[in-house]
Amino acid sequence: MGKIRLLTDEVASQVAAGEVVERPASIVKELVENSIDAGARRITVEFARGGCQLIRVTDDGSGMDREDAILCLERHATSKIRSAEDLALVSTMGFRGEALPSIASVSRFNLSTRTREGGTGTEIKMAGGKMESVSDSGVAPGTEVEVSSLFFNVPARKKFLRGEETEAAHVISQMQSLAVAHPEVTMTLVREGRCLWKAGGTSDLGVRLVDLFGADFMRRLTALESTEECGIKLEGYLSKPGEGRPDRDQQFVVLNRRVVQCPAVFRALREAYGDALPRGRHPLGVLRISMDPLAFDCNVHPAKREVRLHRPDVLKQAVYLCGRRMLDNLNSSTRSPATERPVRAAEIPLPESSSIDVPHHPSRSFASPPQMEFPVPDLNISEPSEEPFRIIGPLGAHWIILEGKDGLVLLDVRAASERILFENLRKDAASGNAASQNLLLPSIVDLTPKDAVWISENLRALELAGFHLEPFGGDSFKVEAIPACLALSDIRDALLDVCLTLRSTGLVGSSQPVVDALIRSVSRFASSNGFQYGESRAMHLVRELLKCELPYACPQGRPTLIQWSFSELERKFGR
Ligand code: ADP
Ligand code: MG
Repeated sequence: MGKIRLLTDEVASQVAAGEVVERPASIVKELVENSIDAGARRITVEFARGGCQLIRVTDDGSGMDREDAILCLERHATSKIRSAEDLALVSTMGFRGEALPSIASVSRFNLSTRTREGGTGTEIKMAGGKMESVSDSGVAPGTEVEVSSLFFNVPARKKFLRGEETEAAHVISQMQSLAVAHPEVTMTLVREGRCLWKAGGTSDLGVRLVDLFGADFMRRLTALESTEECGIKLEGYLSKPGEGRPDRDQQFVVLNRRVVQCPAVFRALREAYGDALPRGRHPLGVLRISMDPLAFDCNVHPAKREVRLHRPDVLKQAVYLCGRRMLDNLNSSTRSPATERPVRAAEIPLPESSSIDVPHHPSRSFASPPQMEFPVPDLNISEPSEEPFRIIGPLGAHWIILEGKDGLVLLDVRAASERILFENLRKDAASGNAASQNLLLPSIVDLTPKDAVWISENLRALELAGFHLEPFGGDSFKVEAIPACLALSDIRDALLDVCLTLRSTGLVGSSQPVVDALIRSVSRFASSNGFQYGESRAMHLVRELLKCELPYACPQGRPTLIQWSFSELERKFGR
């Protein structure tokens, strides 16, 4: 006898359920997307005990007549596509006709529905995939699906559920994603009978974000200039420089109304921020992408979370440019040329004090006097009529306290110096005029074989950054000149630092990224000495910083300025 058997429908549904119904949050997603596909304007989601005990989704959508209500519980019953060709063009959220029977096969399942045209409503009760009753129902037009006792008949699956709190957190974040992707629909989320949030339908994504995440969150974002190129429309809100999170929990990429995981887009977005964010942090906000459904395939993941792009490079490029443009605009509108319009503190987007952690950087000692003046040209510039900050004074060894229009601001001297120096060095390198100092007596440095290889492979890039070196036999080099901002006493350490940087980037040659990595390391090195506080020096530092292209983070991405707004201070003091 052959070994192949056809699975019963019941088992087949349970197998399919394994794909669609990972956890309560995935049920919420399928049900809410069905409601959206049915044209609902209002959707209420209630859940209890992390969704394992109850999930109820109520909508005011089209509803179903009795025939459809029965049919929709059969596998591959869908009203959304008819042929394989339709698949590529599908614009609805669902199309596999799998969700409802899958969910019903692993729970106690109630469907009450009535069309908008009226007529009697229908209520269908199922348990473990078996239809138990079909009766008349007096529900309002629309549909209500109630899923209870999840996995009561598949104990093995139940074991995979995490604690109630974890499942609840997944449901809540799933609802956030859905609400971000569909701001036009009024959504309400109720947990154990208590309303967690209600977001009114709006055509304005910004309003939706405030409803979901609060005004403080929104203040950390800035609107993208909406663009449409090569059939790709981009819009949304992304975080200001310095504003990020170590995970992507508050970063939403919405592709044609679907929140998707798309590594190519994630990467392009992160690249656009460059050193405007600390390493390991991701921008916050919503990037909304609209493009031809033929340009990608959303039928690669059972829950349609992932998409496959046919031309990932085109979208990547568009996303990168859009992000860059936003950051550049932000910088040009906040930069402060002393002779032009002075910047007002209110225009400067500063990170909230609470969201930033400043990793301590090991300090180095220099025998020479502080190098702080190097990036900072002469002080005799004309006083602008209105300064964005008033200097209050030094704080500890590292900070300067400022008063801005919006509140209290702390400036990190070292991060600010690094930023200023980095940008000046970069300009010099680009024009081929790196300021270097010739050594009266060339210095011979011995390196490890590995470091020596790196150095000899990057001599040209080193020259662009102001180091003039010559191989001196074996693993030694003769150093004839070093960047002007470095102290003579530490040539060797500076070189080692540079080697380390180059090796960690894995880059070779003299391309811009190599030179950038080099001068980043040089500016870090040169700025590590102490700062002699003086009011005019402090003022100068602030002005130079605000002239930078990316004033809000050092080249390693640490913040240069952090702010406590007056409203935050008032809250803290209980005013
Ligand atoms: P799919 O969404 O992939 O079509 P589902 O199993 O999720 O498959 O749903 C099957 C069908 O049931 C849908 O195509 C739709 O016609 C109908 N349906 C499901 N939920 C609703 C709802 N909330 N309102 C109206 N019709 C619905
Ligand atoms: Mg569906």
